[in-house]
Amino acid sequence: MNKLATMMIISGMAALAASCQYAPKGEEPAFKYTIDSFADLKVMRYQIPGWENLSLQQKEYAYYLAEAAKYGRDILWDQNCKDNLRVRHAVEAILEADGMDTQTPEYQDFLVYAKRLFFSNGMHHHYAEDKFFPACSQEYFASLLEAAGVQDEGLLDIIYNPSIYPQRRSTETSGDLVQLSAVNFYEGVTREEVENYYNKMVDKNDPTPISYGLNTKVVKGADGKVYELPWKIGGIYSPALEKICEQLAKAREVAENDIQKKALGLLIDYYNTGDLKLWDAFNIEWVKDTIGTVDFINGFIEDYNDPLGRKASWEGYVNIKDFEASKRTEILSANAQWFEDNSPVDPRFKKKTVKGISAKVINAVCLAGDSYPSTPIGINLPNADWIRKEHGSKSVTIANITHTYDLAAQEMPTSTLREFAYNKKEVELAQKWGTLADEIHTDLHECLGHGSGQLLPGVSTTAMGEYASALEEARADLFGLYYTADPKMVELGIMPDPEAYKAEYANYIRNGLMVQFTRVELGRPNTEAHMQNRKLIAEWCYEKGAKDKVIVKKVKNGKTYFVVNDYVKLRALFAELLSEIQRIKSEGDYEAGKALIEKYAVNIDPQLHKEVLERYKALNLKPYGGFVNPEIRPVYNADGVITDYEPVYTDDYLGQMLLYGKKYGTL
Ligand code: ZN
Repeated sequence: MNKLATMMIISGMAALAASCQYAPKGEEPAFKYTIDSFADLKVMRYQIPGWENLSLQQKEYAYYLAEAAKYGRDILWDQNCKDNLRVRHAVEAILEADGMDTQTPEYQDFLVYAKRLFFSNGMHHHYAEDKFFPACSQEYFASLLEAAGVQDEGLLDIIYNPSIYPQRRSTETSGDLVQLSAVNFYEGVTREEVENYYNKMVDKNDPTPISYGLNTKVVKGADGKVYELPWKIGGIYSPALEKICEQLAKAREVAENDIQKKALGLLIDYYNTGDLKLWDAFNIEWVKDTIGTVDFINGFIEDYNDPLGRKASWEGYVNIKDFEASKRTEILSANAQWFEDNSPVDPRFKKKTVKGISAKVINAVCLAGDSYPSTPIGINLPNADWIRKEHGSKSVTIANITHTYDLAAQEMPTSTLREFAYNKKEVELAQKWGTLADEIHTDLHECLGHGSGQLLPGVSTTAMGEYASALEEARADLFGLYYTADPKMVELGIMPDPEAYKAEYANYIRNGLMVQFTRVELGRPNTEAHMQNRKLIAEWCYEKGAKDKVIVKKVKNGKTYFVVNDYVKLRALFAELLSEIQRIKSEGDYEAGKALIEKYAVNIDPQLHKEVLERYKALNLKPYGGFVNPEIRPVYNADGVITDYEPVYTDDYLGQMLLYGKKYGTL
C-alpha cells in the first residue's frame, strides 16, 4: 500500500465506522500505528507496502531471511551485558506465571520495567546507556520471583544495585573504559592489554585489512595471557548461529539470483569458521546485488557499543525495494543535467556535465538484533573503508519506518506541528503534503544538491575550513528548496500538486527559526552542522524578506509563531542565498562563509529558546520510538501446501516480546 492509500484509509474512517456492523469480523476501521507507550518510549507498528506484489518465491525468501534475523536476538542481549539474559528469563517467568495479582500499582511498576527491559535489549537505556531501575520495591520484586518459582541467586542485586553495571558503554572521562563498561566484549582484561593485543596483530600496510576483532570476545586465560574467543559455530553463541545458518540455508534455496546465493553461501561459511576474510568476501558480493527486490543485513555490524570501537553488535534487517519511491530518485538522477543547467547560480560555477545519485528507497519487513525495536531510518553499509572505495556501498532510506513515525505523530493528542503551526490551515497543509514534500526535498538534497556546482580552478576543497559542513549542507538544502517548488517537478510526475511545496516551505521556516531548538539545552549555542544550516537559511530569509513581509512573526496568547506570507518571494530568496553560497564555495571565500555562519547560524535568542523549550515540555511527548514486527505467516491450502505468506499486524508489544523469547530463545 502506498502512502496516499494509507492516508485515504484514515480519512475514510468515519464512513467505515458507520457501516462497521457489516464489516467482516475482526476487521478494523483504521490502522492504528501507536500500540503502546511507557516511560520515555512509544511502540509503533509498521505496514509493508509492496508485499502483495512479491512473487511467492520472493515472499518465501523474505520469510526465511526474517526467521534468520529473529534467531539472532539473544546474541545482542548477551553482548549488551552478560547478565541480561538471566534477568530477562526471570522477568519472562514472572509475566507468564499464573495467579499474579496484576492490578496492583506495584505490579504495574514491574510491568513498566519489563517493557523497558525488552525495549532496550537489556538493563541499560537503549540510547542514554545508563542502567534503569524498577519503580516497585526490591521486596515486592522478590515476592514476584518467589511466586514464579525463580531462584534469586544474586538477581535482585544485579537489578537494583546502582553500582553493578552502571552503564552499558561507559561515558566516564577517566578510568578504564573497558572495565567500566557493562558490555560483554571483554572480561578480565584492561584497556591497555586489549590495545597491546591488537597493536601487535594489526598489519598497517595491508591495503585490504580485515576488521580485526569484529567478532570476538577478549579474555584473559589461566596463564595470564590475552586471548580472543570467536563468536562462531562451535564457539561463543553457537546455538544461535546454528539456527541462523539453518534459516539462511533455506533462504539460499529460494534466493532471487546467483549473487544472493553466493553471498549467502559466504555468510554461512563465515558463521561456521569466524574467518573475517570470508566476512569481507560476503560484503563484496552483497554490495553487488543491486537488482534483487529483497535484501537483508545479518551479522556483527556496528561497533558503536564497544568503548574501543572494535567489537560489533549483532544486527538483522530484511527489506524490500520500494519501486514507487525509488522511481523518484531515478527520475531526478536521469534529469540531473537539466537541474544543473537551470539552477539560479552563476554559470561559471555550474558543472558542464553532472551525474545524479540514485539512492534506493526500501520498506522494512523485519527488524532484528540491534535494529529492534529501535531502528535507524537510513542505512549505509558495509563499514570497511577499502570495500567502500573499491566495491562501493549501499545507501538506503527506509520509507515505511519514516511514514510510521509521521502517521503515529498524527494520532497523538499533542504534536510539535500543532503546537508551533500558527493556524489550522497550516496544520492541514502539513498533514496533506508535509511528509511527501519533505521526502522530495530530501531526494533533491541527496541526489542532486551535494553533487551540483564546481569550484573555480585553483580553489582548494578545504578552503571553507570549520564552516565547510554547515555551508555544504545549506547549499544542498537550498538547491532542494528551490526545486521543490519548480513546475518541472510536477511535469516530471514527482510532485503531485503545484501547491504541495508550500507544506515544505512552511515547515522548513518553522523548524529553522523555532522547533529545532527543542534539541538544544538552554544557554547553549547551535553547533550541529545540519541545525546550523537550517537556522542560517531560515534567519537569512526572515531578515532579507522583512521589508516585503515574506515571513512574519506573530504572537497569539503569549506564544510566538513564524508564518510564511509570500511563498513566491520566499523561493526567490532561497535562489539568492543558493547563488551566494555557491559563489562562496566556488571562489573559496572563507571570510564571507564565516560571516554568514556567525551572524545567522549560531546564536539562539535566549527568550525565544526558553519559550520553545517550555512549549515542547508541556506537550509531554515520548522522545524515543520503536517498532514491533509484522508476523509473516505461511498460508496453507487444503493439501497442506504453502500458497502464500501474509503479514499479520500485531498490536500486542509485550505479546511479541514473549513470543520471541519462546520461539527464538537460543542462549
Ligand atoms: Zn547533506
